[in-house]
Amino acid sequence: EPSSDPIFHSFDKEEVTLFADLILPIPVPRMFTYRIPRGMAEIVKIGARVIVPFGKRNSRVMTAIVANLHNSPPVNYQARYVTELLDEYPLVNNSQLELFRWMADYYMCCIGDVMNVALPSGLKISSQSKVQYNPDFDYPELLTEQEVLLLAELKKQSALTYDELARLAGETTNIAALIKSLVGKKAIIVFEEVREKYVPKMIRKLRLHRTYEEREQLLMLLKRLEKLPKQQEVVMRYLRHVPVQVNPALNQKGLDKSILNQDDALSQSSLQTLVKNAVFESFEVIQPRFSDSNSGAQPEIKLTEHQQRAADEIMAQFAEQNTVLLHGVTGSGKTEVYIHLIQQALASGSQVLYLLPEIALTTQIVVRLQRVFGDKMGIYHSKFSDNERVEVWKGVVSGQYQFVVGVRSAVFLPFDNLGLIIVDEEHETSYKQHDPAPRYHARDVALMIGHWQQAKVLLGSATPSLESYFLAKQRRYGLVELHHRFGDATLPTILLVDVKREKRQKTMKSEFSSALHDALAENIERKEQSILFQNRRGYSPYMQCEDCDWTAECLNCAVSLTYHQRDAELRCHYCGHKEEVPRTCPTCGSTKVKTIGFGTEKLEDQLQIFFPGSRVLRMDLDTTRAKDAYGQIIREFERGGVDILVGTQMITKGLDFDNVSLVGIFDADRMIRFPDFRATERAFQMLTQVSGRAGRRAGRQGTVLIQTANPDQSILQKVIQNDYRGLYNEEIQERQDFNYPPFSRLIKLTVRHMDKHTSQRAAERLAADLTQTLGPTRVLGPEQPLVERIRNQFLFDILIKLERDKVNVKAVKAYIRERINDILTDKGLRQVS
Ligand code: ADP
Ligand code: ZN
Ligand code: ZN
Repeated sequence: EPSSDPIFHSFDKEEVTLFADLILPIPVPRMFTYRIPRGMAEIVKIGARVIVPFGKRNSRVMTAIVANLHNSPPVNYQARYVTELLDEYPLVNNSQLELFRWMADYYMCCIGDVMNVALPSGLKISSQSKVQYNPDFDYPELLTEQEVLLLAELKKQSALTYDELARLAGETTNIAALIKSLVGKKAIIVFEEVREKYVPKMIRKLRLHRTYEEREQLLMLLKRLEKLPKQQEVVMRYLRHVPVQVNPALNQKGLDKSILNQDDALSQSSLQTLVKNAVFESFEVIQPRFSDSNSGAQPEIKLTEHQQRAADEIMAQFAEQNTVLLHGVTGSGKTEVYIHLIQQALASGSQVLYLLPEIALTTQIVVRLQRVFGDKMGIYHSKFSDNERVEVWKGVVSGQYQFVVGVRSAVFLPFDNLGLIIVDEEHETSYKQHDPAPRYHARDVALMIGHWQQAKVLLGSATPSLESYFLAKQRRYGLVELHHRFGDATLPTILLVDVKREKRQKTMKSEFSSALHDALAENIERKEQSILFQNRRGYSPYMQCEDCDWTAECLNCAVSLTYHQRDAELRCHYCGHKEEVPRTCPTCGSTKVKTIGFGTEKLEDQLQIFFPGSRVLRMDLDTTRAKDAYGQIIREFERGGVDILVGTQMITKGLDFDNVSLVGIFDADRMIRFPDFRATERAFQMLTQVSGRAGRRAGRQGTVLIQTANPDQSILQKVIQNDYRGLYNEEIQERQDFNYPPFSRLIKLTVRHMDKHTSQRAAERLAADLTQTLGPTRVLGPEQPLVERIRNQFLFDILIKLERDKVNVKAVKAYIRERINDILTDKGLRQVS
């Protein structure tokens, strides 16, 4: 029985000439061509989703995106039919399809990988399997003990997805086998729940043909219509609502038909004639949930003189540049400048995207933005559920959200009319996605989208990435500086504490120098707040036997296990593997098993010992797993009554507290020593950013104490003097000398395999192949990374360095891909990333 809904039609499968190239959400480096059934041919559009069979004997069903429509059948296989059309209107717009293609090419991955990260999973499948307790089940003696327990739980719940059931059953259970067994015993019922389809509401509108946006043409038209007073009146009526001569842009938005033929049949037929004669054209738009005239009460923000000048300068530079870098010290009020610019962009009718790093987004900034933009602002965050993400996606399409603040994946939202993209804290490493593919950098993607949609891109940071600052210096980007903190607040005083000397003098109290200890004591006394930064979670990163030097290592990865005292276990921070804490050494039986080094948990413990009665909060991955845990900690600290906040790099990002006057930094040397060409830059950024949390209010001078074993390092002097330019000049010279970015492009290839030998051989062969063509100076490695084995896969890195402007990067990439494909044909080697 065909339904009346055109989307659900059962389509005729005859005489088909239309083919579609489809993007399937799988890691295969090509698209697939399918046939479009006849009835579907008239309504299918590029960017719509379809359901297709896939695999041998059509064993799988997938959601795919139509990337292209044409009439040529595939040459080397028989095209199968598309079975269902999910969207009557494109779910993915042209700009997004362009983005997908560019990303697959630029980041050397499959377009299906891009689709996979881009679409919330709720948009990728049309139905999902769920299980439910069978109310008729009556034979408990058939069940195993585990099944009895699970069923008792399931009985209390309504339907569950497989994932939810797996969680309930415990992660170690083989869930597929369990479901099979329970279904066999008729204890549970499995059914398919159809997910909501995505059908935006469309409305028809009318607008005056573009020709009549010209004054001469319009006057001629009106003159011509003098003999047809009814038609003339309809045109006049339109012009009263849409004064084309004053604002042609309004004409593009059009008008509802009903406004023009409100009263009589005569005007209706006049209107029809006008449409037929191409005076008016009719078009479809997605129904906005809120009318666009209702802009809400947006509280005026009053920019300071410095901020206003910065905002004006940014606007002035946008006249000539597509990208502007705002370099503003911590606490200068960059957010207020952004808000001002966002309001302007929205007022001119365009969309705005505001990107923030993961952590910064969960808290204070969102509250500030919500106060201004209310529920017209969409929030896109990775802690959101899939449904919430689908809602934001739809809100962008429907026009409910003209403005979205989001994390890196927000670049995939279906914008089509962006006027402004802000990349806040543009130096942040969390803009880069490492796994899975596409391994993209959201800042770079934002710049591309800006280019396609002719949107201006504003990069902001107190510590810009060398790459961005370099481009600004080269005048490829505009550059605006903001040197003053808001409201006469001054930058904090930064002091170095020589822990080597304190150790010699025996004044250290465990990990605390006496200088930091005393400063904390004073701060608690004064009822001011302190932040302590140690970029390592857990109690201690090593556990070792004093007698035989055994250390606790992960089974699956080449790293030491971290001791977590609270949960009394050893944990791998790479794969999540957990172990009980051994009481005696597993190798020699000695009882002298000790911990080495310290993490946030140990600091928290020691604070309780040194400052009994003080209130301490800890913020790291372990304390923020729950959805709003992060926000709760922030609010509690904000409310006061908490003396000290201890945390990992989470506390360095964008936090803004009135009452923090002391920041303590542990183990600065570890950050500086890290073996990476960006280590110095990163260390400077992190130290400056965390220091910037101190003394953000006028009248409260902040102090920062950095504990180091090597106070003479020049980078520390630069941090103390807030000498970004000094750092830049020194680093950029080094990058140039050793030909690192921005003077070259780097492509990193990682080969991984369970068998070390296979992995190494493949990497060596790949490197040799590439060296032969590109030359030895451009190919480095293969080398084992710092952590050479993760999740039982042995890793080998090859680094390819390509001079800018001298090498055709596209050609090199194509060549690399060819070589990789050659090696992949070797049996057993599947993944090179
Ligand atoms: P940044 O992002 O540059 O570190 P913020 O935007 O967080 O700085 O601003 C620092 C603090 O100063 C915030 O609490 C903010 O509310 C306040 N502030 C900045 N500019 C203004 C302004 N024009 N009016 C009122 N408060 C402001
Ligand atoms: Zn031992
Ligand atoms: Zn591990």
